[in-house]
Amino acid sequence: MYDINLFNQTADAISTVGSYLATRGWAPATSGNYSCRLNEQLVAITVSGKSKGELTRDDIMVVDLSAKAVGSNKKPSDEAMLHTSLYQHDAQIAAVLHTHSVYATVLSRYYASMGQMRLENYELLKVFSGNTTHDMEVLIPIFANSQDMQYLSAQVIDYLKHNPNIHGYLIVGHGLYTWGKSLADAKRHAEAWEFLFECELLHLKINGVLL
Ligand SMILES: [Zn+2]
Repeated sequence: MYDINLFNQTADAISTVGSYLATRGWAPATSGNYSCRLNEQLVAITVSGKSKGELTRDDIMVVDLSAKAVGSNKKPSDEAMLHTSLYQHDAQIAAVLHTHSVYATVLSRYYASMGQMRLENYELLKVFSGNTTHDMEVLIPIFANSQDMQYLSAQVIDYLKHNPNIHGYLIVGHGLYTWGKSLADAKRHAEAWEFLFECELLHLKINGVLL
């Protein structure tokens, strides 16, 4: 099982990050879901359908790595499997954040046919774990949206197995998944992605690609 004090601390930390992401407008209308690893087998994750800016301990639950509820009959987010498959894939992943921002949604649709977005020469690329220079490119893959979480998570994990050093992905018309070795790491990555998406969209506009 798990340590209840650890669960409470983790739930509070998720709530704090949730209210920050909500103030940025990245999780409108109960969208988004967040999780944090408790141990090798279990994960604390937001329940389905709550406003992510007003989370309490009661809105966070425990699931195992197959996304099944542990110790309660609460319902996890429909997308819980997209979280747990990441924890299964990489033991170093300690937190996963999924947001639904305007920029992520618009760009995921714009670049959908390319299957990825390429970000180059931004200073903020150094923010991603393991990067030491702006003089590089970072790829973010884009997957078609699906309500079949088993199918979608299998596609994502297959991609990650063949492409290490990926820090997030987009789902078309839907939003961003990103992660880190701690909740703070994942939050930093979410902020970096959102900054880069905003830059990219403004870049397309300023160059007249988008009106
Ligand atoms: Zn979603």
